[in-house]
Amino acid sequence: MILAVNYIISRRATVSITVVRLLYAFLFILCCVLLSACSEPSELDSSNKLHLHTGQVMGTWYSVKYLPPSNAERSVDDINTEIHAKLARIDLLMSTYKATSEVSRFNAVEPGVWFDLSPQTYEVIELAQDISAKTLGAFDISVARLVDLWGFGPEQRAHHIPDADQLKQVLTEVGYENLKLHGSQLKVQKKTPLHIDLSAIAKGFGVDQVADYLDRIGVESFLVEVGGEIRTRGMKPNGQPWRVAIESPATGQRGVHSVVNVTDLALATSGDYRNYFEENGQRFSHTIDPKTGAPITHNLASVTVISSTAAEADALATAFSVMGPDQAMAYAKAYNVSTYLIVKEREGFVGKASEAFLAVTRDKL
Ligand code: FAD
Repeated sequence: MILAVNYIISRRATVSITVVRLLYAFLFILCCVLLSACSEPSELDSSNKLHLHTGQVMGTWYSVKYLPPSNAERSVDDINTEIHAKLARIDLLMSTYKATSEVSRFNAVEPGVWFDLSPQTYEVIELAQDISAKTLGAFDISVARLVDLWGFGPEQRAHHIPDADQLKQVLTEVGYENLKLHGSQLKVQKKTPLHIDLSAIAKGFGVDQVADYLDRIGVESFLVEVGGEIRTRGMKPNGQPWRVAIESPATGQRGVHSVVNVTDLALATSGDYRNYFEENGQRFSHTIDPKTGAPITHNLASVTVISSTAAEADALATAFSVMGPDQAMAYAKAYNVSTYLIVKEREGFVGKASEAFLAVTRDKL
């Protein structure tokens, strides 16, 4: 969640919220690019042959830095067009912000009806269900209507604590075990009138789709980033590893907390520090605990996960945000997950790295 924006803005200004969020996202990407440029001044020179392609998709920005393949089969224009097409396709299939997307159409069907899915959406839902089972429901795509009730979804309701009875009713419908998949036929069915929300996994899946494409066409060095979820391949042309900034969770600032090396890996961050509202002195973030139906309340400000795929890193980062610092670290230890938690302590923000994280980043945190 590195790029989501603080939502303490009037909900009447729907268009400006998106514009402000895009602006923040763009500025942060620019910061990351400049950070990399500062550490290696030649990085953005034309002599090093790295190509930078940026664009907008899924309500946020994406950027792809890559070394064009030496064979002349495809021009960079062809590659950029294909990258955008892959991401736009995922947006069209999985957005809850588009009434005609596959996910929105599934959300509109009655319980008990089998619904046909594209291979991509099936793959994302299947992975989501797997992660839900492994995290004992901390990650759960069936939270969509709760997300809306708290004002963080596409319905753009005003931010306020929802009516308790309404919350209780919606909570009875939520639960990943209320979704049934039919593997051989690529179908899904719901047992309750739940809605699904792939916001915490589909951006990562988009990164993976682009990374897999670049691998297929022989690109040996790249960094793909969509709304803060990242995957890299190889070393940069100057022989240095790809370095990625973890954003500081300090409210009202956009700074870098630390920088990690991530070569041939994916990295995703989730946090409560940009997308939230405050009422009666309490902060309510967009990460919902599926068990209580309410936004998380603990002191875990930011979670970064490193994994082989961005989809998994993306989903696990949200799951860890729900679990809180102790449970998340225990899970990371038990399942050897690379994670870096930023916890808000009395003395300020404290970073806590799992052993697996220290091992993969070989870094100076
Ligand atoms: P993450 O931490 O990655 O995800 C948090 C989000 O996941 C929450 O906002 C909520 O939606 C969901 N969530 C909350 N709790 C849980 C839980 N326990 N388990 C699982 N999921 C949970 N935004 C726009 O403003 N306009 C758009 O047009 C738009 N289109 C999109 C299209 C697609 C296909 C996707 C995937 C997202 C789109 N978004 C859009 C949303 C936006 O870009 C981000 O994906 C969203 O804000 C969350 O990403 P994040 O990195 O901030 O947070």
